[in-house]
Amino acid sequence: MTTWTNWSRLETARPTREATPPDADAVVAEVRRALESGSTVKMVGTGHSFTAISAPEATMLRPDRLLGIVSVDRDAMTVTARAGTPLKVLNAELERLGLSLHNMGDIAEQTLAGAISTGTHGTGGTAAGLAAQVVGLELVTGTGELLRATPEENADILDVARVGLGALGVLTTITFRVEPLFVLEAVEAPYGWDEGLASYDEITASADHVDMYWFPHTDRLQIKQNFRRGTDLSVRKPLSRTQLLLDDRFLQNTVFGAATAVLNRLPAAIPRFNRLGARLLSDRTYSDVAHRVFVAERDVVFREMEYAVPRAAGLDVLRECRRALDASDLRISFPVEIRVARADDIPLSTAGGRDSFYLAFHTHRDAEHRDYFGLLEPILRAHDGRPHWGKVHTRTAADLAPAYPRFEEFLALRDRLDPQRVFANAYLRRVLGD
Ligand SMILES: Cc1cc2nc3c(=O)[nH]c(=O)nc-3n(C[C@H](O)[C@H](O)[C@H](O)COP(=O)(O)OP(=O)(O)OC[C@H]3O[C@@H](n4cnc5c(N)ncnc54)[C@H](O)[C@@H]3O)c2cc1C
Repeated sequence: MTTWTNWSRLETARPTREATPPDADAVVAEVRRALESGSTVKMVGTGHSFTAISAPEATMLRPDRLLGIVSVDRDAMTVTARAGTPLKVLNAELERLGLSLHNMGDIAEQTLAGAISTGTHGTGGTAAGLAAQVVGLELVTGTGELLRATPEENADILDVARVGLGALGVLTTITFRVEPLFVLEAVEAPYGWDEGLASYDEITASADHVDMYWFPHTDRLQIKQNFRRGTDLSVRKPLSRTQLLLDDRFLQNTVFGAATAVLNRLPAAIPRFNRLGARLLSDRTYSDVAHRVFVAERDVVFREMEYAVPRAAGLDVLRECRRALDASDLRISFPVEIRVARADDIPLSTAGGRDSFYLAFHTHRDAEHRDYFGLLEPILRAHDGRPHWGKVHTRTAADLAPAYPRFEEFLALRDRLDPQRVFANAYLRRVLGD
């Protein structure tokens, strides 16, 4: 039997059985089989969660045959796709149809089900995260039933299961709200710390999507502002392939990647390197269809912790994290990423019920991440922070419950849909309880 390993290589598992179901009936059969033997089933995505949230303990279901678009409803402006479809495949198919998702994160490798199940988000926009764009889903519950959940049918399940942590069922199809394919213009520019933080509220109010990076041990920020430029694709001014290769793939992944690998052994050089790195990222403006601007390639393997704090507290939390890092003897070579999202109405979404400010901390895969994350997690937690379900954190059910006003509602639905805990694993036992 193969060993399952996640993208960051932080987690591994040894499933005892493996299957690649081609349809919902095959998923039902797997769940019933596990129920009869008192065992467990875990559908994995592409393993892009840094946590062991998708680690299978007995049967591992692979998503590789649950692929592609099932239907398009142009009146309702919705698209239904099979749950194992990688986001990048959906993006390409939507582009061919002249359609687009509203907002997404900074990669598109993940499966649709994996992405929504952990509350994957981008920055800005009118819909908080990918799950907030979901208007229907089909799932196989822990009792082996295939259910459809829409605003008209099983609406209570749709409400909660959009961010289901893989604990409520195996998703087989997901229906997203879509819009006409649109052009996004990116304006990237360096800012000083004081200047960037002073104008941050104004920037996030005027741009549609804002991604800010702070280079630790420096006063330097890089801010990417994305503006929606309508549906006329002829106005696009994409980066040339050479610019793309040079600026993004080469600089951000190869140079920084190689450098951070070396810097792990030379931490004293990190502040100087970060100042240099921030200077190399210059001003640039380009535009393309939205998903090409939202998404980047990530070749360097890293570890990440990300927390959502209330939007209004965000800049102060960032300042507090900087003070703590400055006062420590840690040297961090990866930029800190800062994003914002509107509140949504999903019980376990990190943006559930409140506008949110996301702070993401990274280390190279060969660097020790525990000291860094351990230094900052108490600060984030003290500010009512909620950890990204797919990124490194140490929280447990007892201390996550007060962070989510609708936590009990989620647990009650879990009891109803998975009374025998067919979908349990160690991570879910930690964050949701037995
Ligand atoms: C390089 C990189 C960049 C990232 N960028 C962002 C970002 O910009 N924004 C952000 O918010 N996150 C980001 N993430 C995190 C990532 O989006 C999430 O961890 C996401 O869950 C990964 O999806 P996956 O397909 O790899 O799922 P996995 O990590 O394999 O699984 C995640 C969860 O989904 C469940 N699941 C998978 N398939 C099904 C199914 N069919 N039915 C029910 N449950 C299922 C699994 O059981 C598990 O509980 C990033 C991660 C990496 C490594």
